[in-house]
Amino acid sequence: MLRVGVTGGIGSGKSTVARRLGELGAHVVDADAVAREVVEAGEPTLLLIRERFGDGVVRDDGTLDRAALAAIVFPDGEALDALDAITGPAIAERVARQRGRVPAGVVSVYDMPLLVERGLWVHEHLSIAVEADVETRVRRLVEQRGLAEGDVRHRIAAQATDEQRRAVSDVVLDNSGSPAELVSAVDALWRDRLLPYEANLAAGIRSRRPDRASDCVVEPRPDWEARAERVVARLAAALEPTGVDTEVSHIGSTSVPGLLAKDVIDVQVGVRRLADADRDDVRAALADAGYVFSDGNHSDTPHPKGADPGGWAKRFLGGCDPGNHVHVHVREHGSAGWRFALLFRDWLRHESHERDAYAAEKRRLLAEHETTSDYVAAKEAWFEGAWQRANRWAERTDWRPR
Ligand code: ADP
Repeated sequence: MLRVGVTGGIGSGKSTVARRLGELGAHVVDADAVAREVVEAGEPTLLLIRERFGDGVVRDDGTLDRAALAAIVFPDGEALDALDAITGPAIAERVARQRGRVPAGVVSVYDMPLLVERGLWVHEHLSIAVEADVETRVRRLVEQRGLAEGDVRHRIAAQATDEQRRAVSDVVLDNSGSPAELVSAVDALWRDRLLPYEANLAAGIRSRRPDRASDCVVEPRPDWEARAERVVARLAAALEPTGVDTEVSHIGSTSVPGLLAKDVIDVQVGVRRLADADRDDVRAALADAGYVFSDGNHSDTPHPKGADPGGWAKRFLGGCDPGNHVHVHVREHGSAGWRFALLFRDWLRHESHERDAYAAEKRRLLAEHETTSDYVAAKEAWFEGAWQRANRWAERTDWRPR
């Protein structure tokens, strides 16, 4: 089941997007609706609120007196935190229950205003931010929903900014145009990314980079770093409950600013023992996060030539998102292969002439090799020399893996 989070500031068009995804076939959970349900008359959460804030917050008919509760919690940060501590787990539990009932093959959408503020986006396979500038949002809410302007501006100021949302969003939908334009952007996203992503997840198929090397290798893209940061955060969150000691890092050419590269985000997961990666719960956590094990790729080419291959063992997984090709290399912390991945990155980040020489070599090989796999294989010869130079640099600069 593909989990998609939809967020946006008040009046951005978030609900409009969630509604359209529902019409297209997604199952939608509305966080605001769940937040209202958990405090309905007779709910255990309402009893807890009454215990904490007094009888005055419940009306004679047993329903929550929102105004009375707001008067207590809004001026008092501690009281607001206490309310969040009561309602937060109840909402999370109900949302999880509702999403747990979504049948396989159906996209599960979580319409959540505080996806970013609460850090919940890491549990979604994909997060979508809906954006419109503040003045447009204020106008729409005042004119169409009859809200008071001062109230709207106050709420906008209390929410995350567009920049904060964009940093953790895989997709940004611009809603400065007409409703029809927004709907057609949602339809295209559904067709081109969400449905294929869901199909890949359901079948356990990783998304493939283009076969033609010239289609795959691109000039450096400005979004590589942010894409990698999201991958790293999601993988760390997925592995956390397994208790396995891991460190997740962005590696490879997309981690070197200014270097042309295959449009693939490479990530290294360092584990204490490689056997950890083969544990059933770890595999299940990675599969749930959208990563598929590749059983035919258990080693890197050892360096220097003839070195013990044991130090170069790994596990390899590919991500299922057709809009973000991701390769995950699981290596034993401290092994030769683990160390070289980090050294190679840091060396090329610091030695711009080496980065440029590598780019020149890539261009030469691209002209010679048509398929991406031939191109990748041809790069290996260059790597042996690079390994030597990187290690000399490490010695000279007293480099240590971080
Ligand atoms: P949110 O859920 O982010 O608060 P909504 O989807 O409810 O936002 O949209 C806020 C208001 O603006 C609604 O009244 C909605 O009908 C309207 N709206 C949304 N998108 C547009 C648009 N592109 N043009 C005009 N009005 C819009």
